[in-house]
Amino acid sequence: MDLKHEIQRRRTFAIISHPDAGKTTMTEKLLLYGGAIQQAGSVTAKQNQAHARSDWMSMEQQRGISISSSAMVFEYDGYHVNLLDTPGHQDFSEDTYRTLMAADSALMMLDAARGVQAQTEKLFAVCKNRGIPILTFMNKLDRPAMDFFELLEQVESTLKIKVAPLTWPIGSGPDFKGIFDLQRRQVLLFERVEHGRERAPVQVRDLEDEALADLIGADAHRQLREELELVEGALEPFDQEAFLRGEMTPVFWGSAMNNFGVENFLERFVTLTPPPAPLETTAGPLDPEAPFTGFIFKLQANMSKAHRDRTAYMRVASGRFERGMEVVHTRTGRSLRLSRAHSLFAQDRESVEEAFPGDIVGLVNPGVFRIGDVVSVNPKLRLHDFPRFTPESFMTAYAKDVSKRKAFRKGVEQLAEEGVVQVFYPTDGARDPLLGAVGHLQFEVFEHRMLEEYGVAVELMSSSFKLVRWLAGPTDKVERFARQVEDDQGRPVMLFRSVWDLEYAVEQNPDLEFLPQPKDL
Ligand code: GDP
Repeated sequence: MDLKHEIQRRRTFAIISHPDAGKTTMTEKLLLYGGAIQQAGSVTAKQNQAHARSDWMSMEQQRGISISSSAMVFEYDGYHVNLLDTPGHQDFSEDTYRTLMAADSALMMLDAARGVQAQTEKLFAVCKNRGIPILTFMNKLDRPAMDFFELLEQVESTLKIKVAPLTWPIGSGPDFKGIFDLQRRQVLLFERVEHGRERAPVQVRDLEDEALADLIGADAHRQLREELELVEGALEPFDQEAFLRGEMTPVFWGSAMNNFGVENFLERFVTLTPPPAPLETTAGPLDPEAPFTGFIFKLQANMSKAHRDRTAYMRVASGRFERGMEVVHTRTGRSLRLSRAHSLFAQDRESVEEAFPGDIVGLVNPGVFRIGDVVSVNPKLRLHDFPRFTPESFMTAYAKDVSKRKAFRKGVEQLAEEGVVQVFYPTDGARDPLLGAVGHLQFEVFEHRMLEEYGVAVELMSSSFKLVRWLAGPTDKVERFARQVEDDQGRPVMLFRSVWDLEYAVEQNPDLEFLPQPKDL
C-alpha cells in the first residue's frame, strides 16, 4: 500500500449551513454520486432505523433536527472522500467546533432565497479561524432566489471572503433553466426529476450554440450573457492559492433536491480541495507521511441501545492505522492496543482494518479518551487545547431522586465530555454542578438524555449567572481571588451576574486575566 498515494487521494470535509438550507439533502446526493448508496434517500432510511433504536435520537426526529454527527465515506473518481456530518440545530454546541477540527475543508450551503443566516455565520467563523478552504453551494435555485449579485455581495460583506463563481445560474424559481460552467464554457440544462432519486440527466450546450436561445428562451439567453459580462468584468477570477488560504470561496449553484449542479460541484470539489494537512502539535506541524498518529475530536456515549458504550472519534493524522496496533496514549503515557475500531458510516458498526490520514475511525472508549487526546507511536506528541464555546446561559442541575446521585454524576461527566453542555463544579462545598450552554436546546437535550440513558430525572433551575471567564495569572493571586467554580478539568473559573460585575473584577485585579476561553493546560 502506497501511503503517499492514499494520502493524496483523501479528502475530508464537512458541510456547514443554517438549518433547512439543504445539508441533509446534499449529503444524500453526494453519497448517491459517490456510489456509496444505491438510491439517495437511503441515508435517511438508515438514520430512521438508528433513530428507532436510540431514544435520544427520537427527540431529534420529533424536532426534525440533527444532533448527532457521524462520518460518511464515499469514493469518487479515484478519490476517497470522508464527509463529516456537523450538527445542524439552531443552538450551537461544542460538538460542532470539534467536528470542524477534523475537517480539511468545508462546504458552505446557502439557501439562495435566504442568503447568509445566523448559523452560517457562526460556523463560517470557526472554519475561517482554522484557515481551512471553504467552498460555497447556493441551493434551491428551483425556488425564487435573491438577486444573484446581491447574494454574492452579502457573502463578501458579512463573511469577509472573496467570491469567485465557477458556475452561474440561468434564472431561478419557475424560470430556472440551468447553470453555465464558466471554465468549460458550457450550459447544463435543468430538468426537474421526480423526488430527485436518480442521477439527473444533463444536457450540455455551448453558450454560443444557436439552439440554446431556443431552449432557454431569447430573453434568458440575453440576460445570461449580460450577467456573465458583469461577473467576468467585475469579479476577480478564481485563484486556487487564495482559496487554499481561506480568502476566496468558489461558488456553485444548483438544486440539491433536484440533483442539479451536484455532480458538477463534486467533480470540482475533489480537484480543488487539498489532501490532509499536517497536524498542528505542540512540537510543530506533523507530516501526514510520518509514522502513525491519530487524535480524538469527538466522544459520544450510548450511540444506540445495542451499544451502551462510549465511542471516541479518531482522525488519523499521519501514517497507516492498523486495527490492533499498539500505540501510546500520550496524555497518560500508557500503551494501548487499538483493537476495537469501527467505521462510523450511518451508525453501522463494521470493523475497520486499516485507515489513512484524513480517515475517521470509531474507537470503543472505556473512559480512557478525552477530546484532544493523541494516540501515536511517538509518545511525545500532544495537541493544543481545542477551542471551546463560551456559554451564555447557566442552570443548576440536580437529581430529583437523591438515591440516583451516582448515576447523575456519571451522566453529567459523560455528557459534558461530549460537549452537550459544559459543567462547572462549585468549590465551596455546594454539591450541585452548574451547567453552561449557548442556547436552551442544549439543556433540553441534556435533560432528555439523562433520563433516557442514565435513568435520572433531573431538575434544572435557572441561575442568575450570565457570564463565565477562565482565570489566568500568577497562581497565588488566582488562588486568593474568590474562586467559585472550576471546569471539568479543574481549571479556575469565575461566573458573573453582569458585564458590570465582570468589569469591576477586571479593574480590581490587574494581575489577572479573565478569558472567554480556557488557556492551554
Ligand atoms: P438541512 O436542515 O440543512 O439538513 O436541510 P434539508 O436537507 O433537510 O432540507 C430542508 C428542506 O429543504 C427539505 O424539505 C428539503 O426537501 C428542502 N430542499 C433541499 N434542497 C432543496 C432544493 O434544492 N430545492 C427545494 N425546493 N427544496 C429543497
